[in-house]
Amino acid sequence: MRWDPIRKPQAARAAANLTDYATACRDFDWTAAGSALSGLPGGRGLNIAHEAVDRHATGPRATAVALSCVDRHETVTEITYAELKEQTDRFAVLLGELGVRPGERVFTLMGRAPELYIAVLGALKAGCVVSPLFPAFGPEPIRQRLTLGEGSVLVTTPTLYRRRIREIRDRLPALRHVLVTGEAETPDVTALRPALAAVNPAFTIPATSPETPALLHFTSGTTGTPKGAVHVHGAVLAHHVTAAFALDLHAGDVFWCTADPGWVTGMSYGVIAPLTHGATVVCDEGDFDAKRWYRVLSAERVNVWYTAPTALRMLMRHGPGLAKEHDLPALRFIASVGEPLNPEVVVWGQEVLGLPVHDNWWQTETGAIMIANFAAEEVRPGSMGRPLPGIEAGLLARGEDGRAQVTGGHVREITEPDVEGELALRPGWPSMFRGYLGEPARYEKCFADGWYLTGDIARRDTDGYYWFVGRADDVIKSAGHLVGPFEVESVLMAHPAVAEAGVIGTPDPVAGELVKAFVSLAPGAEPTEDLRRELIAFGRRELGAVAPKEIVFDQHLPHTRSGKVMRRLLKARELGLPEGDLSTVEQP
Ligand code: ATP
Ligand code: MG
Repeated sequence: MRWDPIRKPQAARAAANLTDYATACRDFDWTAAGSALSGLPGGRGLNIAHEAVDRHATGPRATAVALSCVDRHETVTEITYAELKEQTDRFAVLLGELGVRPGERVFTLMGRAPELYIAVLGALKAGCVVSPLFPAFGPEPIRQRLTLGEGSVLVTTPTLYRRRIREIRDRLPALRHVLVTGEAETPDVTALRPALAAVNPAFTIPATSPETPALLHFTSGTTGTPKGAVHVHGAVLAHHVTAAFALDLHAGDVFWCTADPGWVTGMSYGVIAPLTHGATVVCDEGDFDAKRWYRVLSAERVNVWYTAPTALRMLMRHGPGLAKEHDLPALRFIASVGEPLNPEVVVWGQEVLGLPVHDNWWQTETGAIMIANFAAEEVRPGSMGRPLPGIEAGLLARGEDGRAQVTGGHVREITEPDVEGELALRPGWPSMFRGYLGEPARYEKCFADGWYLTGDIARRDTDGYYWFVGRADDVIKSAGHLVGPFEVESVLMAHPAVAEAGVIGTPDPVAGELVKAFVSLAPGAEPTEDLRRELIAFGRRELGAVAPKEIVFDQHLPHTRSGKVMRRLLKARELGLPEGDLSTVEQP
């Protein structure tokens, strides 16, 4: 199946932050880019919270809305930059009064309410390391992460405390303070609001070296046990620059990132990057619901929207009618991240919303967007795009185990177009992770011959666009063919009856592996034998030899909480193997 590139109107190209890709790449250098940030007054270093909040709070944007918080009932609370400065100063002072020292870990476990942003940014001001947890985690994943991260402060809601924390509290010896967003129901917690109101808000951010640890992010756990990636304050430069390039974010934009700050996307782009640009950040407390999302886009007059493939696929399956009911004149740019974005969804955006979806690629480890389709450049549906200015990417030849082959300390870079290899990056951008907490060996294994190895397989076309093939451990070897599950899933999803697909390899004595697809159906489609046969024939027509031999209907494909189809779980269930770490599986 062929999808034509989507070209941009001249007006959109002229207004974009990156108008000419080749020139931007040639001219870019991280040191010079640093002048986009102000740094702490008096040359005392670089602190994320200063760049995100304080520098706007004293300038012309002081009274601009920093956070537009939409609660579950769609009541909106607006917080200006000046107000956010005061609240975050108070939080930093409060930490000091509680005896919390710079470098200690402050965890958050709560939905997207104002206190979350105040706690995150206030803790960064105080020099603490922030670790945001996804609020739907159960007690055990919370305990594991708090233990690994040695959290000394936890900010949460009274309900989450009662349901998730109280039973594990005595197994968390490092946890000295629990701050709750509502009333303190028991003496072992402190009510946050009155405590903030009681302190003297005068606060000066202490000198902060760009190498000071700032964030501890756990990965999505798609391929195994989640890893705790450590990021430093200097990362803010990458957040800022990449948001301008890859999300086309401008000062004054209304920006909505639908990812929860418990995942790296929701922190780098749901909190930090848009604030450094002086944008208004929409903080939506609600869960995914197609109608609600269109309402938020419309009512908040969102200009730039950053979301994920699963959500877009759901919107698409609700049909164009629902989209057309909502007027979205303000919407200028749509981007997606987290897992492969099927070309059909990119084209749906163009046809139904009048804007293509711009896919981009990065990882918890990279801290910021690395590869993207850009506002002024043509979008190639199905491609992740090209490396950002300042980012050097490459593809490395693979060995038997599917990962980059290292011989005598050296790897071989693939230079020919359209050849699959492990995607690798040259370290050197500011938001590169500095380690996996407590797992130095796992960190070391990520590097070879001057490259960071991503664990993802991709190919590159003649114009330098990268195309995702799969994760190194997901790629299927069938009858001598290497099959990327994403390609098969994308083809199946081009069929109108299919909402989503997950594809795995199952062992076969002859072929090595057979391609097997699990498919969830669009509203209205019936899981009949006829449809199954039709889908198998459809796959064979589009894919030839690598088409799925077997198709199973499953309306509850397992997803990570960050929205990815969990192929490792489909596979474990299929083979009757242990299911592994399930802490990040979304409960249906
Ligand atoms: P874990 O490392 O614990 O297995 P994870 O890799 O899913 O989990 P994240 O760091 O949240 O954790 O996700 C990064 C991964 O998501 C990438 O390595 C890639 O496999 C996938 N991904 C992100 N963006 C894209 C994209 N645009 N297209 C295809 N895959 C993507
Ligand atoms: Mg990963």
